[in-house]
Amino acid sequence: MLCPCGSTLLFNTCCQLFITQKQSPSTPEQLMRSRFSAYATKAGQYIFDTYGAMPQLEQSVNDIQTWADECLWLALVIHKSTESTVEFSAYYIVDNTLYELREKSNFTLEKGQWRYIDGDITAHNELTFNNGTSTIKRNDICPCNKFPTAWSAKKGKKFKNCCAR
Ligand SMILES: [Zn+2]
Ligand SMILES: [Zn+2]
Repeated sequence: MLCPCGSTLLFNTCCQLFITQKQSPSTPEQLMRSRFSAYATKAGQYIFDTYGAMPQLEQSVNDIQTWADECLWLALVIHKSTESTVEFSAYYIVDNTLYELREKSNFTLEKGQWRYIDGDITAHNELTFNNGTSTIKRNDICPCNKFPTAWSAKKGKKFKNCCAR
């Protein structure tokens, strides 16, 4: 399977190495990508573990897992990375509606490991799909086709035969 982070590498040669703790991310962007892939593959514990010590106090593995499970995580687009920030858009489907979550995230090194601290959400919108509606119908072409690097994409397939569950 392709890595959810959009690298176009196989999952087991990309973010899975971080999620299974075989390797540690060496940049904020690698950590951010692996956290998106963890959402996509419902690995709530990893998302919890990669919060910094302070923000982790306000998180629960259960809440993270519920949010990860509810959504179909379609695609990640990185807009800008620096030495301590990553600006990205995450695209996901919930209740047959496509959303964009755009955030500028802050990262820090704790004991030599990159950790997610917090982020400013700069956009969180429903995206209109076909004919100006934001509800994806079962016979619509699956929205993952809009994203060339989407890990789930089956070219030209209808939603019901692709990402719909
Ligand atoms: Zn990846
Ligand atoms: Zn799809």
